Amino acid sequence: MTASPVSHRVTTVADALTGASKRIAAVSDSPGLDAELLLAQILKLRRAQLPIRGADVLSASSAQAFEALVARRCQGEPVAYLRGSKGFWTLDLEVTPAVLVPRPETELLVEWALQCVHDVAQPALVDLGTGSGAIGLSLASERGDAQILATDRSASALAVARANASRLNLSVEFQRGDWYAACAGRRFELVVSNPPYVAGDDRHLDALRAEPREALTPEGDGLSALRAIIAGAPGHLKAGGRLLVEHGADQGAAVRALFEAAGFTAIETRRDLAGLERASGG
Ligand code: SAM
Ligand code: GLN
Repeated sequence: MTASPVSHRVTTVADALTGASKRIAAVSDSPGLDAELLLAQILKLRRAQLPIRGADVLSASSAQAFEALVARRCQGEPVAYLRGSKGFWTLDLEVTPAVLVPRPETELLVEWALQCVHDVAQPALVDLGTGSGAIGLSLASERGDAQILATDRSASALAVARANASRLNLSVEFQRGDWYAACAGRRFELVVSNPPYVAGDDRHLDALRAEPREALTPEGDGLSALRAIIAGAPGHLKAGGRLLVEHGADQGAAVRALFEAAGFTAIETRRDLAGLERASGG
């Protein structure tokens, strides 16, 4: 009989992904994707390159760095903060805990905004509560002729948005201030906003605790930011100008009533791929 060789414990890419995915499943609906995005970050690969590397052995330092990110993910930190970036529209945006992680649903608002100003040359647009710059920068990337203002009350969010604009070489004006205070005396073809709209006592907020609370909720019933944005819009729209806002799936009727109260006609609500009411405009 021959003695079996002493085996050293090695971790392959495939093993690391399987193990991490099982642990991340406790906190995420997309554990396999999360594990891949984190490992790709460590290995400086694109996620699509991982499958052909399945049998590669991880170096001790990569294994350790991956373990650190997986542990943080299991504590509830979003993948986007751990990677420092998030894909939105066609852009790769820098994100930090100072900004909301841009959501895919918000791309619906970008698409709708582009349709609204399709036939307008050099439209003046404003993105209220720009966060990472997601909406304003996406519009700038599609409409090089537009004059785009993006505002936020948070100085640290604006710093992230400005850094994104300069890295992506997109021209957007940034102003700090409370909703329309940041665009006093100005009128636009289009006002667009994804404001905080989660109710202050919504249990969902606990799962989102890594993100800035002021980006998620205006407190109370969740409608006060939408109320201020909708009520103030007529004073900042040019003739024929439009306002588009994102809102919660259960806020469609309340938001349409706010549009009506502000004198809007032709109020429209759009649904996301899951059939949920997500954005309204007038
Ligand atoms: N537009 C980004 C996006 O879609 O990913 C961020 C949206 S986040 C839901 C809302 C943003 O509104 C946050 O960046 C927050 O700082 C900003 N905000 C909250 N209250 C505000 C206020 N009173 N005036 C201006 N901005 C405000
Ligand atoms: N869509 C976010 C969420 O519930 C909320 C963002 C917002 O308040 N605008 O995950």
